[in-house]
Amino acid sequence: MITKPKGTYDLLGIDAKIYTYINHEIENFMANYNYDLIRTPIFEASELYHRSVGESSDIVTKETYDFVDRGNRCMTLRPEGTAGVVRSVVENKMYGNKNDCIKLYYNGTMYRYERPQSGRNREFTQFGVEVFNSNDPIIDAEVISLGYNLLNSLGIENVTVAINSLGDKETRHNYTEALVKYLEPHINSLCDDCQRRYKSNPLRILDCKVDKDSEILKNVPKLSDYLSKASSERFTKLKMLLANLDIDYEINDKIVRGLDYYDENVWEYVTTDDGITLGGGGRYNFLVENLGGPNLPAVGFALGIERIILNLKNKIDIDNLNNNIDVYIMSVNEEEKMQAIILAQNLRLNNVITEINSNNLSLKSQFKIADNLKAKFLVILNSDDLNKGLINVKDNATKEEIKIDESEIVDWILGNI
Ligand code: AMP
Repeated sequence: MITKPKGTYDLLGIDAKIYTYINHEIENFMANYNYDLIRTPIFEASELYHRSVGESSDIVTKETYDFVDRGNRCMTLRPEGTAGVVRSVVENKMYGNKNDCIKLYYNGTMYRYERPQSGRNREFTQFGVEVFNSNDPIIDAEVISLGYNLLNSLGIENVTVAINSLGDKETRHNYTEALVKYLEPHINSLCDDCQRRYKSNPLRILDCKVDKDSEILKNVPKLSDYLSKASSERFTKLKMLLANLDIDYEINDKIVRGLDYYDENVWEYVTTDDGITLGGGGRYNFLVENLGGPNLPAVGFALGIERIILNLKNKIDIDNLNNNIDVYIMSVNEEEKMQAIILAQNLRLNNVITEINSNNLSLKSQFKIADNLKAKFLVILNSDDLNKGLINVKDNATKEEIKIDESEIVDWILGNI
């Protein structure tokens, strides 16, 4: 037997139903917020991720799926969605109208060679939004609240937004200097990854999962003490906006995010009961320029769909997600079966959820299946009535049964479901 690759999964059963429900909710939400869908390739030139996610990031150094294609080009399966979206915005010169924001969302599979565990796969799905062409914290607040409200409306209410400011370039430069100086005498006590990060990207040491409880990290200089006036004002404005929008937020100065392109305001959506990070994002005002576009400020976030499914599985009423059937059409002989599929098509084209007997089942078995499907009405075809142009309909709740003229059956069902 050939089995699925390690770290991947088949989406099926209840998970597939929850996934469909989430996507439905996303479509509604994005229409209300007036964001447009964008779909970019699953693989891109490897260079794209080196120049955006960052040469020193864990993702690029340890986790990408890289391959050389048959034309000798270095390709990478996308580990995240932002870089591809930015590449597309630049390549398609979407910034034609300088006054408008470009508001986009995506939803697709990502690939990271990570150690698989619950909520961590090698192939996973992210929904994300990206807004270009506004540097106003009001857009940070719109984007943050969009994600928060979406999680709430899906049924995840125990979530808080952990926010932080990484500051502008000047802030990060000054803070990194102070951090490196502070860490220097302790460097040998840090984990191997942090020793590497010390040289390549010291800020990432702040959110190390291995060293996080050590005295060394507990006493690091505070990033907030180094914020420039402009960054500090921007962060203050964001906090005020979030409070006015009734967003449950908290400040967490250890959040630095795993991707190198972020600056200024960053955040994560974290569940309050079990502390699971469902997603995160931030500003990335220089990425468009770094990828060959104009100076175009931007902000965005991504949510992990698998973690949302895991969370909802414990609380959602699965019965509500099942397609409860409006009509089950019962048939036994060939003539009845022929009429069944014709009637089913008519009903389905009129938005009536309809199921038919698709095997040679006895009437008794068909009654049982109709009950399991919670069918509201049973249409019980029999040749004698069909020859007279009549159809039997039974209300499965009241058990009342009536005969209806064949030509009126669709209208009758539409009037009674
Ligand atoms: P990131 O792009 O690393 O900021 O991740 C954003 C969100 O995507 C995380 O909070 C997770 O919900 C989800 N995510 C990231 N990596 C994985 C993974 N390997 N497996 C499942 N979900 C993931």
